[in-house]
Amino acid sequence: AFATIPQLLRDAVSRYGPRDALIFPDARLSYYDLDRAVDSLASGLLALGLGKGDRLGIWSPNRLEWVLTQFATARIGVVLVNINPAYRQSELEFALNKVGCKALVLAKSFKSSDYIGMIQALAPELEAAKRGILQAAKLPQLRHVILMGGAAEQNGIWSFDEVSKLGGPAQQLRLPQIDASLLPDDAINIQFTSGTTGQPKGATLSHYNVVNNARFVTDRIRLTDNDRLAIPVPLYHCFGMVMGVLGAVSKGAAMVFPCEAFDAATTLDAVARERCTALYGVPTMFVAMLQDLEANPRDLTSLRTGVMAGAPCPVDVMKKVNDQMHMSEVTICYGMTETAPVSFQSYVDDTIERRCSTVGRVHPHLQVKVVDEAGQIVPVGTQGELCTRGYSVMKGYWDESELTAQSIQDGWMRTGDLAKLDAEGFCSITGRVKDMIIRGGENIYPREVEEFLFSHPQVREVQVFGVPDARLGEEVCAWVVAAPDAKLDEDALRVFCQGQIAHFKVPRHFRIVNDLPMTITGKPQKFVMRDMMMKELE
Ligand code: ATP
Ligand code: MG
Repeated sequence: AFATIPQLLRDAVSRYGPRDALIFPDARLSYYDLDRAVDSLASGLLALGLGKGDRLGIWSPNRLEWVLTQFATARIGVVLVNINPAYRQSELEFALNKVGCKALVLAKSFKSSDYIGMIQALAPELEAAKRGILQAAKLPQLRHVILMGGAAEQNGIWSFDEVSKLGGPAQQLRLPQIDASLLPDDAINIQFTSGTTGQPKGATLSHYNVVNNARFVTDRIRLTDNDRLAIPVPLYHCFGMVMGVLGAVSKGAAMVFPCEAFDAATTLDAVARERCTALYGVPTMFVAMLQDLEANPRDLTSLRTGVMAGAPCPVDVMKKVNDQMHMSEVTICYGMTETAPVSFQSYVDDTIERRCSTVGRVHPHLQVKVVDEAGQIVPVGTQGELCTRGYSVMKGYWDESELTAQSIQDGWMRTGDLAKLDAEGFCSITGRVKDMIIRGGENIYPREVEEFLFSHPQVREVQVFGVPDARLGEEVCAWVVAAPDAKLDEDALRVFCQGQIAHFKVPRHFRIVNDLPMTITGKPQKFVMRDMMMKELE
């Protein structure tokens, strides 16, 4: 077992040195190349005055510099802070200050976002940065801003290439000493949760959390140094940086990054061109790839395995991923940012049916229980809150001791997810505790009502949630996105429910909407819908 990220990388370099490590559209690095680039960057960061325990934010879509920064910060014990590429100025300010980032590495821009413009607006004092005396009023802890690429200096901003050349013999000599001081339990990464149920929370992860989780995820898909793994999922999230990068490095596999941000056609082109054997994605990405494939067939026979995670996968999608994308060994993962991330995963030989109805079995070295509201373990097959315990549970939410104490009790992470375990240990996720509706004393599980409404042929998407009600405590509310050309209205939906589901589950309020409020990872945000409905119902 490896205890720290630098150990993991060192082991891979010694075993697989000359082989492909990273393949980007504009760059190709062997494990040796990766190691050298990481050392230079780590030395440069030391020369800037960064050291163990300092926080460095990274704000960028998937780029080579992202991976280099991930390993260079780990190399010197600096805590990497993943900043969502979709954030805007106010969210950036919140994240940088929340965890006190001393440095920020950023891309120049992404889609329509001018990152440089936003950081300059937040820190007009930037010019002082290169003289080491930056004191920005709005970002009091920030000292350095580093721009990805080799662009010339501007306004106090370092270029990535410049920083990589800053280090000298003095820094090189310090690296082994620092290495010896790194502890498995040191914080190495702060990641914000998706914000599906409210404000994102900063989960603090250790070397030990991520290195080992990465290894168990790729164990289960039987990844080896002969594999080529396509990673179109975001690096700023555990899926990309832990399951993707660290998972591949733990096996010496090659990593193929097709695009800065997911694009179905570019991903499939890269899979075909690079003869990838494994591919990661959330179910909606696979849906988009299957659609693209229909219009533009490619040779994907090299594919074998991969991971689908983050949300349940419909059976027909899974069948097509098996038949049309040749991924007969694709696995489903369940996890959360707070558990670094995976705790359940299916097996490469599970049936399609089982892969869609469960998230597989618990990972090695983790404990799991399902409890009722009083915290008592429920019988097999009964729904309750899923809790996990073991090496992968985060250190805590950064600077939120109260929230941490509520979420981790006696080592058990309360996932906030509703689940059932069967007699063989296979787990089904049935919703979120927060989303459960209590209407006049009856518990209503939104997932059940959603599944029923979804069976209406003209319903394309549906979300069910509770809104406060003076008489019953809560009332059921449904937001429906209709299929194109559908003629759906509230009455038709109400009639559809009558006699088919228990009367108390029939939504009191229906709304036909054009789209649903989503996180940028594509998860519907019920709390936003609830707020909007509450204003409307006032
Ligand atoms: P926040 O905690 O900010 O509200 P979030 O919980 O969506 O956001 P993440 O940590 O990115 O943030 O996501 C973890 C959650 O995603 C899990 O708690 C679970 O609800 C859901 N999830 C993950 N994998 C699966 C899966 N395979 N099937 C169903 N749900 C899943
Ligand atoms: Mg969560």
